[in-house]
Amino acid sequence: MNLLYKSTRDAEHTVTASEAILKGLAPDGGLFVPVSVPKLDVTMEELKDMSYQETAYAVMKQFLTDFTEEELKHCIACAYDSKFDTEVIAPLVKVGDTYHLELFHGATIAFKDMALSILPHLLTTSAKKNQVTREIVILTATSGDTGKAALAGFADVPGTRIIVFYPKNGVSRVQELQMVTQKGDNTAVVAIHGNFDNAQNGVKALFEDKELERELAEKGFQFSSANSINIGRLVPQVVYYVYAYAKLLQNEEIASGEEINVTVPTGNFGNILAAYYAKQMGVPIAKLICASNENKVLFDFFQTGTYDRNREFVLTSSPSMDILISSNLERLIYTIAGADAEKDQELMDGLRTEGRYEITPEMKAQLSDFAGGFATEEETRAAIRDTYRSTGYVMDTHTAVAAHVCRKYREDSGDGRKHLLASTASPYKFVKSVMTAIDEKYGGMEEFALIEELEKVSGTPVPKAIEEIRSAQILHTRECGADKMKETVKELLGI
Ligand SMILES: *Cc1c(COP(=O)(O)O)cnc(C)c1O
Repeated sequence: MNLLYKSTRDAEHTVTASEAILKGLAPDGGLFVPVSVPKLDVTMEELKDMSYQETAYAVMKQFLTDFTEEELKHCIACAYDSKFDTEVIAPLVKVGDTYHLELFHGATIAFKDMALSILPHLLTTSAKKNQVTREIVILTATSGDTGKAALAGFADVPGTRIIVFYPKNGVSRVQELQMVTQKGDNTAVVAIHGNFDNAQNGVKALFEDKELERELAEKGFQFSSANSINIGRLVPQVVYYVYAYAKLLQNEEIASGEEINVTVPTGNFGNILAAYYAKQMGVPIAKLICASNENKVLFDFFQTGTYDRNREFVLTSSPSMDILISSNLERLIYTIAGADAEKDQELMDGLRTEGRYEITPEMKAQLSDFAGGFATEEETRAAIRDTYRSTGYVMDTHTAVAAHVCRKYREDSGDGRKHLLASTASPYKFVKSVMTAIDEKYGGMEEFALIEELEKVSGTPVPKAIEEIRSAQILHTRECGADKMKETVKELLGI
């Protein structure tokens, strides 16, 4: 059966999976969603013995039904290869009483690699399938990790260019160095004077700019997105939840059919939405616990049913979660509104004009699968320190936010189910925050000295991604105002 996609803001039109991937964002500003979330057509017994790549095929073929078996298997093989430093791609590590699903073993040592290693292949395949001849310009706003993972994925991919916007003072030093040293003739990196929400709104505005679209078309270009608004990013993220459950079963950590909980450190709501889709596909997941840092707009939303971005934007030690407008939440809103595009549009208009919206009690009643929590900066540091002291395991700041929220949820709810935690970045990526959380004595040391200390403390070798930036040349120095993104894009494309 052919699964079609609709915009969250348009009840009429449908597109194929490959068209949705090509477009990224729907023309009306909405996000593409599958008309229904497909069920797995293999059993957990079968999944148990599958490799990551085999699991990826079993899951993704259900969503991307207009891809041939050969096309999809080719994309998967190109993505999940030796770029990952472990054959299992996403290892499960038991830390205390929680199973950490380590999603940071790819080229840029954050979980964005899980989807962005495959997106370029899905996109170029989609372009071929739809006879696209124009050059595809990937426009991306990043809170730090997406940018580098997208750059690494698209560098020198024929028929594509990539432009990344990041907030000048909103990313870690390692994140910034990773991006500005990116090689590839088709890559551009721009620091904007503003925060991530400014960057993301700017990119969305460019997508919706019909005049710019015409100009681009004349010059042989068209935009697409590598942000998690692209369904081609969301679908590959469903894979690792299915895989993790099957591995827990294989390792006899859980019984067949046993429900588990999942905690996800959340920013743009992409990763946790993928877990929700995994649940709808048939994975026995009970609660989805959404962990926020001090930018706790989602926590408040789950408490009250009101989404309100009118608040101070806080720069935290988990910068990839410093977000006040969680784009992917719109997909959940649409679902709990009963796939009502009009209602979705009304709420999103509220967000655009007033910065807030309130869901109906009927909608709120459908959020019972979710729980929300948040960690302050001090709680995040304490989670890193305490886990290190009790287990020797060193985790990054984002994962630590989730670890705190997970522990608190268990204490407060008394829910005794086994617990999976999405571990989203290597501690090496946020080495300064991690090391000073372990011991304040590291406060005065510079980045690369700390990297050596972390190697000693954690016993895990320095990843290749870190070695690479140590000596790499800085290739991108462009900056612009948050209101000058359009001019910058035109300049970069020579139009
Ligand atoms: C992007 C990111 C997150 C947040 O994921 P979302 O899908 O945006 O909710 C969490 N941790 C790290 C390290 C990230 O890079």
